[in-house]
Amino acid sequence: MDFFELSIELEFCAAHILVGHQGKCANLHGHNYKAEVCLSGSKLDSLGILIDFSDLKKIVNNVLDILDHHYINEIDYPAFLEGKTSAENIAKFIYENIETKIDQKISLDYVKLYETSKYSVKYSKK
Ligand SMILES: [Zn+2]
Repeated sequence: MDFFELSIELEFCAAHILVGHQGKCANLHGHNYKAEVCLSGSKLDSLGILIDFSDLKKIVNNVLDILDHHYINEIDYPAFLEGKTSAENIAKFIYENIETKIDQKISLDYVKLYETSKYSVKYSKK
């Protein structure tokens, strides 16, 4: 059976406080985040495409716009309002919001969120 995996990487900036952190992350600060979104499927459309990259970019950017240039601790999402604005929860938030917007024949494999070029978290539903 055919199997196609595709991914897109988009960036955003946001501020946060990791409430209760025993270190610098307890102070207000920001990151230039990068989100890598990976999808897969086996059925291509009449043009031979799984999902058009420009459509995918719009879907992902609509979700990232909720975060971009915002203070994450004030975004209406339970973990964020509790101060748990970790890269883990941000990756999960992005995943959950993208999942509802893509065609059911396409599987959302994972969202990998880079907090820095060296620190990343990969979220998926296993
Ligand atoms: Zn941080």
